[in-house]
Amino acid sequence: MRARTTEGCEFDLRQEALDGLKTRLRGPVFLPGDIGYDESRTVWNSMIDRKPAVIARCIGIADVIECVQFARENELLLCMKGGGHNIAGLATADGALMLDMSLMRGVWVDPQKKVARAQPGCLLGDVDRETQVHGLAAVLGFVSLTGIAGLTLGGGFGYLTRRWGWTSDNVLGMDVVTASGRLVRASSDENADLFWGLRGGGGNFGIVTGIDYVLYPVGPEVVGGLVAWPAGEAPRVLELYRTLAETAPPELTLVALMRLAPPAPWLPTGMHGKPIVALLACHSGRPEEGEKAVASIKAFGKPIGDVLRRRPYAQLQSLLDATQPKGRRYYWKSEYVSRIEPALCEKVIEHAARIRSPHSAVILFQIGGALNRLTEEHSPVGNRDARYVLNVASSWEQAGEDAANVEWARDAWNDMKSFSTGGTYINFLTEDEGPERNQAALGKGLGRLAKVKATWDPQNLFRTNRNIKPA
Ligand SMILES: Cc1cc2nc3c(=O)[nH]c(=O)nc-3n(C[C@H](O)[C@H](O)[C@H](O)COP(=O)(O)OP(=O)(O)OC[C@H]3O[C@@H](n4cnc5c(N)ncnc54)[C@H](O)[C@@H]3O)c2cc1C
Repeated sequence: MRARTTEGCEFDLRQEALDGLKTRLRGPVFLPGDIGYDESRTVWNSMIDRKPAVIARCIGIADVIECVQFARENELLLCMKGGGHNIAGLATADGALMLDMSLMRGVWVDPQKKVARAQPGCLLGDVDRETQVHGLAAVLGFVSLTGIAGLTLGGGFGYLTRRWGWTSDNVLGMDVVTASGRLVRASSDENADLFWGLRGGGGNFGIVTGIDYVLYPVGPEVVGGLVAWPAGEAPRVLELYRTLAETAPPELTLVALMRLAPPAPWLPTGMHGKPIVALLACHSGRPEEGEKAVASIKAFGKPIGDVLRRRPYAQLQSLLDATQPKGRRYYWKSEYVSRIEPALCEKVIEHAARIRSPHSAVILFQIGGALNRLTEEHSPVGNRDARYVLNVASSWEQAGEDAANVEWARDAWNDMKSFSTGGTYINFLTEDEGPERNQAALGKGLGRLAKVKATWDPQNLFRTNRNIKPA
């Protein structure tokens, strides 16, 4: 079996070694050609098409430890897949041993302590499903099929971020298998340097086998959903967004987006494929207050569709899933923004009008609030001046359309990046974004992260990520 070392050199991984690996694991092992291999190796973004030498679908922590030891013994490149949603395809690598965590999806909720422990193969929806049984929720993202591991390790934001901060601000501790194959606890009391690094530094320091989230009372019913208008209304709708967002209570999160109308049942057939502007809202407090908070959106102009209403929180968490299916081609450009200026709204309208694909969008996510109240040093995710995320999200179906769609996103980004705080979200970086973008994402924290890396992974075993070189 042709495989790659951590340095990228090709070598023959002997059959006896592979047979040995199979006997050491409880979970299945897949080689190219095996049923299960392609399902495991593929990731959300079909621009990424890599072929690991061998895939281990781990069943428990012991399997993870065995895999780390096997990779070290054989000097084998190692990668790990949580939800496989990283746009740059960081979960997979040619010639590597891939750890596929998709069988480790347990969630345990302690409703008294308001803590959930989740395994690293969980998708966001797994955690929401179990925590909502108790009327509780963790601070997670907007699409329920995203993996918790990659999202949390890179920072994480969603509908609850304005109230409680980055996802990683709301983690009590993590269990980690280190480069030496040891299982350790990382929390503010134990291995505090490792804990600090894990809250923004990605998969650089070890393989996370359990995450403990702080939970908050949310739902089960909240007010949330979308209202859409024809794109001709965009100047007025974005002005409404700008002013409402500035004064919105922390319970209310507002997202503005422009795209071509998808063929969704809540939009009139005659509008499908036509340019629209939409506001997505979630009020995570009491539904009566939520209804008041979104009343001006619902009453604004003449919407072509309105599904902003009381609904289960878990349902709201999966409202966008169908717009982001696995297997399409994706390319994003993103920046943090500290305030929405009218000039930015004009640019959003201008670039949305040039969209090349029915699946692409220009999106403004509101995130300002709790995260701004912590210091830059609190964790490497930093960016404590970010109040919005600007995401130019290009998505299309055919490889022949790559150049046009990538070019659209790049042009829009080039024209709008002057509105940036100078910071960007590490989890939205694409494959072609270089080390200077790590600097933009992690900023001042990079030096300290390199020291944490030197302590916990001096040989850089964990390098299929936004890699931090050991100091
Ligand atoms: C449709 C979509 C919607 C999104 N929405 C949001 C959002 O609302 N908010 C937000 O903050 N982000 C969002 N993201 C970005 C998301 O946070 C990243 O894509 C993240 O990397 C996904 O995590 P994953 O586990 O699915 O990633 P994977 O692709 O599986 O892995 C990504 C990285 O994490 C590392 N990793 C995975 N598992 C482990 C582990 N157990 N231990 C150590 N390292 C590990 C991998 O090595 C890799 O480097 C979204 C992405 C997509 C595609």
